[in-house]
Amino acid sequence: MKLIQRRHTRQVTVRGLPIGGGAPIPVQSMTTTRTGDVAATMREIERLEVAGCQLVRLTVPDEAAARGFAEIRKRTDLPLVADIHFDYRMALAAVDAGADKIRINPGNIGSRKRVREVIAKVQSAGLPIRIGVNAGSLEQELIEKYGYPTPEAMVESAGKHIAICREHGFEDVVVSLKASDVPLMIAACRLFAEKYDYPQHLGVTEAGPTRTGTIKSAVGIGTLLAEGIGDTIRVSLTDDPVQEVKVGFELLKSLGLASRGVTIVSCPTCGRLEVDLIRIAGEVEKRLEMINKTLTVALMGCAVNGPGEAAGADIGIAFGKGGGLLYRNGKKVGKVSETGAVDRLMEEIEVFEETNKA
Ligand code: SF4
Repeated sequence: MKLIQRRHTRQVTVRGLPIGGGAPIPVQSMTTTRTGDVAATMREIERLEVAGCQLVRLTVPDEAAARGFAEIRKRTDLPLVADIHFDYRMALAAVDAGADKIRINPGNIGSRKRVREVIAKVQSAGLPIRIGVNAGSLEQELIEKYGYPTPEAMVESAGKHIAICREHGFEDVVVSLKASDVPLMIAACRLFAEKYDYPQHLGVTEAGPTRTGTIKSAVGIGTLLAEGIGDTIRVSLTDDPVQEVKVGFELLKSLGLASRGVTIVSCPTCGRLEVDLIRIAGEVEKRLEMINKTLTVALMGCAVNGPGEAAGADIGIAFGKGGGLLYRNGKKVGKVSETGAVDRLMEEIEVFEETNKA
């Protein structure tokens, strides 16, 4: 039974990748290199691709970046989004450089005339646009009208640019309403979802370093996804962007909205524990990190919930004193020692894969 009913939205495609309209939710990230440094940017894009990133955003602040973008476009098939602030001419240059989508910030893109030019260019190239509203860079007139960034101000900012798109008969629009304040971001996205059916890109902006950023993103993005709102996500961390992708997938997996990678179920440990489960779980997590299989692994500390969880996972170990019972597909298949548990688990994962391929 589906416990999350996703809200109906329009669908746009970015280099063939669907966003909205009930499509699987793509995980995005953004490069941290100068886009003009093609070699460094490509290295990061390749690492992001290995981690599962489906859409990569690159900043295009100047001509050197636009030239770099054009070269990068030739070297990867991943959908590439050009991130534009302040200078609308960079949006025009990014379209010519082969961008698959243009992100503009209504708060700093400038006059309606400039926005019209960008929309006309994007439309003629058959590309979608993201109207990316940030609470920290709202238009001055909206700050004056509302006093400070409010959900209404953010939705109004997006609405003004949606209206310009509609004047052009252009509907290939994705909208994001981001804030570092989680309740504000949630309220803005909910309000937008009440008024419009454009797909939403979710993110808590400037969420912070890995631990705090992960928690804030999980609360902000996760709350909305659980309500069926959201069509693509970017977790924003002050860290390697590969971490953003990993956290993004964990977030989706926690809600049953993605199946990439191994899901680990492990107990929090307590005084009943008789093995070093924290070490074992950490080692398993590390060794499974880059394995892209849809699989649930349970690592349980004792007989209280151990056999049930281990049998309920694809592969599980219910530990006891000095070792544990190994389960595969709900059945006991052997015993493992504490020291050999991780190696044996990895062997079982291979057997599991072969079984399912057969
Ligand atoms: Fe404690 Fe056992 Fe529960 Fe783990 S499974 S938390 S060791 S009671």
